[in-house]
Amino acid sequence: MANLKDNYDVIVIGGGMGGLTCGTLLAKQGLDVLVAERLPRPGGYCSSLRDEGFSFDPAVGILEGCDKGGVVYQTLTELNVERELELIKLDPANRVAGTDFDILVAAREEGFEDDLKRLSPGEGESIHLFLEECKALYHEMALVSAGSPDLMGLGQKIGFMKDFLLKCSHLRKYSAKSAREVTHSFFTAPKLRAVMHGVAIFLDPDTQASILMNIIGMAANEDICYPKQGGVQALPNILVKALERNGSQIALNTTVNRILVEKGRAIGVELEDGNQIRAKYVVSNIDGKHTFLKLVGEEYLSPKFIKELNTSKIYGSVVSISLGVDMDFRAIGIQSSDLSYCPTNDIGELFSGQPEKSGLMVRLHSLLDSTQAPLGKSTVGIVACVSPITLINYWKLDKDGQKGKEYEAVKENVAGKLIASVEKVVPGLSEHIVYKRIATPITFEKATLNSEGSAMGWYPLPGGKMRSQKTPIKNLYQAGHWTFPGGSVPAVVASGRNAAQLILKETQ
Ligand SMILES: Cc1cc2nc3c(=O)[nH]c(=O)nc-3n(C[C@H](O)[C@H](O)[C@H](O)COP(=O)(O)OP(=O)(O)OC[C@H]3O[C@@H](n4cnc5c(N)ncnc54)[C@H](O)[C@@H]3O)c2cc1C
Repeated sequence: MANLKDNYDVIVIGGGMGGLTCGTLLAKQGLDVLVAERLPRPGGYCSSLRDEGFSFDPAVGILEGCDKGGVVYQTLTELNVERELELIKLDPANRVAGTDFDILVAAREEGFEDDLKRLSPGEGESIHLFLEECKALYHEMALVSAGSPDLMGLGQKIGFMKDFLLKCSHLRKYSAKSAREVTHSFFTAPKLRAVMHGVAIFLDPDTQASILMNIIGMAANEDICYPKQGGVQALPNILVKALERNGSQIALNTTVNRILVEKGRAIGVELEDGNQIRAKYVVSNIDGKHTFLKLVGEEYLSPKFIKELNTSKIYGSVVSISLGVDMDFRAIGIQSSDLSYCPTNDIGELFSGQPEKSGLMVRLHSLLDSTQAPLGKSTVGIVACVSPITLINYWKLDKDGQKGKEYEAVKENVAGKLIASVEKVVPGLSEHIVYKRIATPITFEKATLNSEGSAMGWYPLPGGKMRSQKTPIKNLYQAGHWTFPGGSVPAVVASGRNAAQLILKETQ
């Protein structure tokens, strides 16, 4: 473990993208920051693994918001490190394939629109209108996620509310509805609906429609990228270097067990080894329930707040399979690095939890960065969308919550069926596997301590309330996907910025 001081200005618990953003921005402003991360590498879900010559990104697989004007780009620019992240723009952003369609979601947006119209010729007008709504919503999203109302004075707050009411009609309308409701209201052909959900097959169809529509808007705005080298790990690594260059510190393999509270305010943390470290401010970048119910303790919280923590819905997890194969995709003419596969056009079935029918995200990222696989070989990442197979109780843990014999059998069985499904887009895949690693919701929960292996924190229910980086405990803030504005790298970067600005506002 790194040499730690007894005192810091700020301790950030968790080195995911939300925590690293917050810590690095504060370090740049001269504050003495410690980021405590329990894993041996930074980034949380935004990280890459290297094993037996293959590199994989088991969770975050693509980066959004890195274009000029995007929140990731803005943050890197503020830290003067934007040139350190060399990116490849994904064009096509995605390929969505099914039993009776195969479509490129290209930045050349007319191509995408025309292809959709060919799929269902009678629905041209609805297709055009829907894509226009997605693009408008993408721009409105940028407007509201630029700053937290917590940071605004009264005048700014009134301006923000006015903008929200007058300029964000799409966002208001589609945040109140579910994605499933909206695709069903726009389109009648099941395959059109499947394509639209396929663009973000990872996304639960019962979440706010605005999330799906924002992703479709991003694809049409060419804002989907991948690092030229180093996988998605390149991004947190750049932040760590900037943090250290500014005189602050990250302690890896360091678990925080308790947030110290005195007279209603956070005064530091206690580590797993019992070491207590003081700080003027503490930022939690970790699981929302864990932060308050375990690290703070119920004695400091109101019954209403505890009830809210215990009853709020949590976003589901996923199954992620990393394969090394002795196939050369480039040589056999496979071009799209990222594709979604829909084994059925029925949205209910795609998210029903039957592995044979589950919607899949397939990443062939050695096509983007040839150093990710040995010569003549390739990588395949498969992520099965949120559904009952991604619920923690599907995996048959034993009574003590440990992985038993049954767990291994269920895992192999599910993975086998998912791989068989991917063979429809990568023929012969199962005969060429030379490396396999399977991550289930249990793997994600054990590694990151996100409750139930949640992929995106609190569930964005249609019409759900907006959370804040502020907490009921003075000097304790939150960053990451258990706070506003929710899951995904751009969202947690925005939350880390908000948390940093709230602390800076207090210190000035
Ligand atoms: C399979 C999968 C695919 C995804 N794909 C994408 C994608 O392509 N693009 C995208 O934008 N988003 C994607 N997401 C969502 C995105 O990964 C998350 O919303 C985001 O990365 C969360 O960042 P975070 O900073 O909130 O926290 P996390 O990434 O969860 O990081 C929290 C960190 O805190 C550490 N920690 C926990 N408890 C403690 C403790 N007590 N002490 C010290 N450290 C602790 C954990 O080890 C972890 O490193 C994906 C998620 C998953 C699971």
